[in-house]
Amino acid sequence: MRKLVIASGNPGKLREFQLTLAPLDMEILTQAQLGIDEAEEPHCTFIENALAKARHVSRISGLPALADDSGICVAALDGAPGVLSARFAGEPGSDARNNEKLLHMMQGVTDRRAHYYCVLVLVHHANDPQPLIAEGEWHGEIALEMRGEGGFGYDPLFWIPQLNKMSAELSRDEKARISHRAQALDALLQKMRLDR
Ligand code: IMP
Repeated sequence: MRKLVIASGNPGKLREFQLTLAPLDMEILTQAQLGIDEAEEPHCTFIENALAKARHVSRISGLPALADDSGICVAALDGAPGVLSARFAGEPGSDARNNEKLLHMMQGVTDRRAHYYCVLVLVHHANDPQPLIAEGEWHGEIALEMRGEGGFGYDPLFWIPQLNKMSAELSRDEKARISHRAQALDALLQKMRLDR
């Protein structure tokens, strides 16, 4: 059976990855199971950070590795928080402080458009010149105040006009069907089915 290591320590993401990849009949391992530390994420694009994480885990494990990088990009802020989404208000990262900072920066701003972005990278080996890459985007708006108890990160501020709901008001299943990560995972699954 082919093996794949997921380069993430986030239990929510691991569950989503494992569910989506189940039909491929692969042995899915996690970075933590193999005792591999987290990689640095020093780059200014999502794709570079995802590649760095996947290569790091593949190099140490000697196995194919799958990594993701994601965040929220606000149009009026030139795409910020972007790759800094997790630590927008500084270290250590705090969802509450990040949301407060974003709300503050959006005071008086009329263009509220924003989107979540996720990129997934699967390297077959550490120096793979042709990794599988899949992306997803989920568009919405930054609300004027926080609402909802579900999700994580910026979900209490992410308004989805078509559903008339905040992301934090969606059930876990609903979000897992339509989110940026779900879209990227679907696209990756298709590429993996066609893969050598
Ligand atoms: P990472 O991909 O785990 O580095 O996540 C980066 C950050 O982006 C998270 O800590 C959140 O602040 C934000 N983010 C990514 N995806 C979501 C989401 O689905 N909901 C809310 N925030 C998210």
